[in-house]
Amino acid sequence: MSDKTPSYNRILLKLSGEALAGGQGMGINADVLNKMSLDIAHLCGLGVQVGIVVGGGNIYRGAELQKQGLVGRVTGDQMGMLATVMNGLAMRDALERRNIKTRLLSALPIGEVTEGFSSRNANRYLTAGEVCIFVAGTGNPFFTTDTAACLRGIEIEADLILKATKVDGVYDKDPAINDDAKKYNSLTFDEVLEQKLGVMDLTAIALLREHNVPLQVFDMNKNYALINVITGENEGTYVSQ
Ligand code: UDP
Repeated sequence: MSDKTPSYNRILLKLSGEALAGGQGMGINADVLNKMSLDIAHLCGLGVQVGIVVGGGNIYRGAELQKQGLVGRVTGDQMGMLATVMNGLAMRDALERRNIKTRLLSALPIGEVTEGFSSRNANRYLTAGEVCIFVAGTGNPFFTTDTAACLRGIEIEADLILKATKVDGVYDKDPAINDDAKKYNSLTFDEVLEQKLGVMDLTAIALLREHNVPLQVFDMNKNYALINVITGENEGTYVSQ
C-alpha cells in the first residue's frame, strides 16, 4: 500500500479514549496502541504531516464523575483533561519506539511532562515532519476532545479531520442494534446537524462548517482504513460543506 500517493498534506486525527481501550473497555490496550502507532508511522513514511488529538473517556469523563457524585463538573472535566494527557504520553512513547519524532503539546501547563500548546510552534514542528499530539482538550471544562480536534485542526490548517470510531462510517441509525441501518458515503454538515447524526458534538460540527474543513469518519481498527482514507480510497463517511 505504501507506494500510493497521499491526497492530503496535513491531517488531524482524533483518537477517542474508547478506541485506545480496545476490547478491554477501559485503560489503554497495548496491542491497539501498537497498531495505531504503526498506522501513524506509515502515514509519516508517506510524507503526511500528522496532528493527533487524543480523548480521555477510557479513563475519566467529567460528566460521569459528576453523576456519580464524586466531584463537581469543573473538577471532573479537569480530571478528564488530565486523562487525555496520560493517553498522549502513551501514544508519544509508542511513536518514539518507532523512531517517529513526536511532540506532546498540552492546553494545560504541565511543565515537566508536556510542552505548552502554541499553534505557532505546532505549525513549525509539523512542517519539520514531527508528529504533534495535542492533549488536555481545549483546556476548558464543558468542552469535548471532538471540539478540541476541530479547533486544533483549524489552527494547524489541516486539510482533513479524521475521526476514528468503532464503526466504519456514519449510519442513519445505530448499526449495532439495527440490521437495516444505512451507511452514508458522504454527508453535508447541514445534514449532520439537521438529522442530529451523532458524528461529533454540535460545537465541533459547527466549527468545521464555519471554517470549511472536511471531516472523515472511519473505522481505525479495520486494516488499511487509515491509509485508504489518506490515499483517497472509498472508506467511511466524508462530511463536508
Ligand atoms: N474535557 C474537557 N474539556 C475539553 C476536552 C475534554 O473538560 O476541552 C474533559 C471532559 O470531562 C471529557 C473528558 O475530558 O469528558 C475526556 O474527553 P472526551 O470525553 O472528549 O474523550 P473521548 O470520548 O474522546 O475519549
